[in-house]
Amino acid sequence: MSNFHETLEKHFPKAVVDVVFLGETTKQLNELNFNRRNTLTGISICQDEILTDFRTMTELIWGNIFMLGGLGGLLISGRTGLTAFNHHDPDTFSTKRFLFIIGTHIAIDSEGRLGSIKRVNQRGMSNACGSLLGCLSKFKRFNGNYKPMFDRQDIAQYFVESSLVNYQLEIIRSSHPEIAITEKALEITLKDLEEILSKHNDFRGCDIAVLSGIFIHAPNDYHDFIDVRTCYTTRNGIKKDLKLV
Ligand SMILES: [Zn+2]
Repeated sequence: MSNFHETLEKHFPKAVVDVVFLGETTKQLNELNFNRRNTLTGISICQDEILTDFRTMTELIWGNIFMLGGLGGLLISGRTGLTAFNHHDPDTFSTKRFLFIIGTHIAIDSEGRLGSIKRVNQRGMSNACGSLLGCLSKFKRFNGNYKPMFDRQDIAQYFVESSLVNYQLEIIRSSHPEIAITEKALEITLKDLEEILSKHNDFRGCDIAVLSGIFIHAPNDYHDFIDVRTCYTTRNGIKKDLKLV
C-alpha cells in the first residue's frame, strides 16, 4: 500500500472517490425529484484551483452553480448571498428546490503527509488548504492566543480566522491539528448554513438538499476522494438522511 493510501485509510477510511460521490448522490436526489431543471445548486467550497474538476463535474450534472463559499470553503456569502441565491430559483415549478454542496479540503501527498500537495506544473510542494493551514500556523505561533485583526484587503482570510478563533486551543492540542481544523471549518459552515436557512423566510416551504464532506486531494492527478459527512433532504418539512457509505 502506498504512503498516500496508508494515510487515507488511517484518517478517512470511509472516503469515496469524488465521481462516486456525485453519481450516488445524484441518483438518490433524482429519485427524490431534485433534478437540473427544477433545482438550483449552490456550493461552498474553497476557491483553490485544485477543486476545479469537482466544480466542473457538478456543473455538468446540475447546471450552473451559485458560488456561496470563500477561502477554506466557509460560507462567506452569508445571508445576502443566500437571499440572491434563493431569488434565482427555477420559478416555473410550484416548489422551490435548492441543492447545497459544502466542503472543506485537505491534501495528502505521495509520502502520506497531511496538508501537502505537489500541484501540476509546480516544482515544489505547497499546502492544501492553504487558507486553513495558514490559520493553523498562526494559532500555533501564538500558542492558542491568536487574535485576528480586521483587514478589508484580506477579508476572506479574516472571515476564516475569526470563525475558527474560539476553537484554536482545541485544534492545536488535537493529535492531528491539520485534520481538526478541516473538520471544524466544515462543522462551522454547516451550522452557518442551517442557522441562516432556518431563520430566512424565503427558504420556508422550499425543498432542500444538503451534501457535505471533506475533499481529500490525492497525488499524481488521481481523482479526489470525499469523506462524506452530513447529507440529507428536507421535503415538505420532513428531513431524510441520504446514506452513501
Ligand atoms: Zn483551500
